[in-house]
Amino acid sequence: MDRFAGSNESPVFETVDNLNTCGCGNQAEWLVYKDKQPHCPECFKEAIECGDVVEVQYLCV
Ligand SMILES: [Zn+2]
Repeated sequence: MDRFAGSNESPVFETVDNLNTCGCGNQAEWLVYKDKQPHCPECFKEAIECGDVVEVQYLCV
């Protein structure tokens, strides 16, 4: 849990149930921590290519 040290944000895991849909409507498989938003594989790939991904969590879906 060291990755959350110093953060005031709650662990993303607690809200995964409400965040398992990507903004484009596809089922999300990744949480991009910078945005704290779920991303489907396609949007996740775009985020990486844009260089905006700082830290991510894979959702076992
Ligand atoms: Zn998407």
